[in-house]
Amino acid sequence: MVKTLCLALLLALAGPLAGHAEEAAASKNVTVADKDRIEHWTGKTVMVFTPHPDDDTFLCGGTMKLLTQNGNRVIIVIYTNDNKGSLDLEMTRERLAVIRRAEEEAACQVLGVPKENLVWLGYDDGDLEYANPQRLRGEACRLIKKHRPDAVFTIDPGDEFERWHKTDHRMAAMITKDAFIASEWQLYYPQHLLDEGLKPHPVPVAYYYYTTSPNYTVDITPVAEDKARASAKHVSQFSPSLEKYTPEMSDETYQLLRKTFLDEVKDGDKYVEKFRREVLP
Ligand SMILES: [Zn+2]
Repeated sequence: MVKTLCLALLLALAGPLAGHAEEAAASKNVTVADKDRIEHWTGKTVMVFTPHPDDDTFLCGGTMKLLTQNGNRVIIVIYTNDNKGSLDLEMTRERLAVIRRAEEEAACQVLGVPKENLVWLGYDDGDLEYANPQRLRGEACRLIKKHRPDAVFTIDPGDEFERWHKTDHRMAAMITKDAFIASEWQLYYPQHLLDEGLKPHPVPVAYYYYTTSPNYTVDITPVAEDKARASAKHVSQFSPSLEKYTPEMSDETYQLLRKTFLDEVKDGDKYVEKFRREVLP
């Protein structure tokens, strides 16, 4: 099953994601001039590529909120419709896809990203590995050329060594990174220029999440509560809605989740999100 579900189960058990804490502890931050730090950007465009409609919220939600608060445009590309992450035996794929779309839109609304800025590629949950890679890369490449981001957030494909991820995540990681090259060189997909006038666009800098070698820390303390509220909008992914779907969330469940979300990003007296930052050649 998808990462979403695993995360949901972990959260349902009310345990912080220990693996993330260990990854964070091993980090060595790169030195970045204040003017180049995304926390200080205004008027820029940032794209977030996510395999499922929640990895973006859980891993980058605080940073996205800071970006939108500072007047930046955030575009989120969602590879799959997340239509298999339910233990409810009466759930259908079609119904779950509709639910997950609404939950992602509600989460993004909290983070200041309007639903018009969400791009749904619509692949079935768990099947991204079986999509045509050349076509998939072309879709990501076209969107980069269209929106011309100043930075891209995506899953870490690995630095010196390839990083293992579970299904959908590994394909999203590799395809998005490959799309960086294709979007720089127009002859990879010349139809983008010929048919739509979309010129090549080199991505200047990438921020990788789900990384084992973070080198960039964003202080999300001012928006940590917003991130918790946004994360809880993915109601169907948490008990008891996970087992028997209901759109409602009790205050008791919310308070449990809120504590888990905040514990996950707590770093001393701050709340943080950590990424591997790479300036692209
Ligand atoms: Zn996922």
